[in-house]
Amino acid sequence: MPTTRAQCEQYDADDPLAFFREEFVLPEGVTYLDGNSLGALPRGAAARVAEMVETEWGQGLIRSWNDAGWFDKPSAVGERIAPLIGAEAGEVVVCDSTSVNLFKVFTAALGLRPDRKVVVSEASSFPTDLYMMEGATGLLDGYQRRLIAEGGLTVEQAIDEDVAVVVLSHVDYRTGRLHDMAAITELAHRHGALVVWDLCHTAGALPVRLGACRADFAVGCTYKYLNGGPGSPAFLYAAARHQDAAEQPLSGWHGHADPFAFTTDYRPADGITRFRCSTPHLLSYAPLEASLDVWERVDLGLLRAKSRRMTDLFIELVEQECAGFGLEIASPRAADDRGSQVAVRHADGYPVMRALIDRGVIGDFRAPDLMRFGFTPLYVRYVDVWDAVQVLREVLSTEAWRDARHAGRSRVT
Ligand SMILES: *Cc1c(COP(=O)(O)O)cnc(C)c1O
Repeated sequence: MPTTRAQCEQYDADDPLAFFREEFVLPEGVTYLDGNSLGALPRGAAARVAEMVETEWGQGLIRSWNDAGWFDKPSAVGERIAPLIGAEAGEVVVCDSTSVNLFKVFTAALGLRPDRKVVVSEASSFPTDLYMMEGATGLLDGYQRRLIAEGGLTVEQAIDEDVAVVVLSHVDYRTGRLHDMAAITELAHRHGALVVWDLCHTAGALPVRLGACRADFAVGCTYKYLNGGPGSPAFLYAAARHQDAAEQPLSGWHGHADPFAFTTDYRPADGITRFRCSTPHLLSYAPLEASLDVWERVDLGLLRAKSRRMTDLFIELVEQECAGFGLEIASPRAADDRGSQVAVRHADGYPVMRALIDRGVIGDFRAPDLMRFGFTPLYVRYVDVWDAVQVLREVLSTEAWRDARHAGRSRVT
């Protein structure tokens, strides 16, 4: 029996997470399937920003560094992210960007394996991860990069006794393919290597257990599934067992053991604080704090169950409703192997996505031919999945995407 819209309505009526949608501002007439790039605005965010601006800054002025907890904000917010990624207290700090944090933990990890000169990553990694690794090893001597690739080196082949550090995205940003964090971390450790996990498409999309997997380091952004707002600060995880030996190179004063002693020489703080660099971008923490007020109430098991069901439904409906239009599902078929997004390949994916956006169905496009649809369980409904596929069918069957308006590339895809 083919799935119907009425069935999707019933799934929504039965959805234990449905009430979270009320916590977000979503524009009328929009089906938002790009929360994997920029999460939706939490309803509480504007008030929290206003409070920080008007009260903490406007009235408190410099006193707010102490009175409003500004100085400790990176660790305080880190404590709130920790349960979402399976970390313990004192293992997460929120500051800077994912790229910058990757540079810090990657270089610190290299320092923990000084006798090894091979670093491993994946050819299909989000490029900034590869670029930051290049930048870091370029400052040091004699490093060699080994890349895992489809049809090339496997993870098992790439990791041996020469490898210092492995950097991998838990969820692939294009296809949503999920790595087995426990198995790969164990494999790396068996060969004496350390692993840095990029959790940009994991945090807020599915639960992950960094501690139970014995992960060494991790980074991730908060503006995607965590809904922290454009440019919100990133998180950095360092396992407690590594912290005191790990030295990160961006030795700014906020990572110093005693920043207000203003000494001439750098001495890293104990614990996770040494991964801070400098004055936090405080206004960017405010919307994230409002979002974490929502996350505090989310059952991650239910979140994952809904995410699996929505992505399964989307794949099923694309095949049911859009057969014969040259689409190919580029994401893993098994929900176990997939994050919370589905990528669909089409030779004219860019104009097709532009035509979808024109009709209020917002996903995005990744070169050369992938349309990405993100399913954020807190505010996407099963009927949205249905409606999006109907619009996709309409765009393909009428060839509306051939309209000249959809041809030119925007700066940001
Ligand atoms: C989004 C994303 C980033 C973004 O890095 P920024 O430093 O925030 O620009 C990095 N890595 C992955 C895997 C991503 O998906």
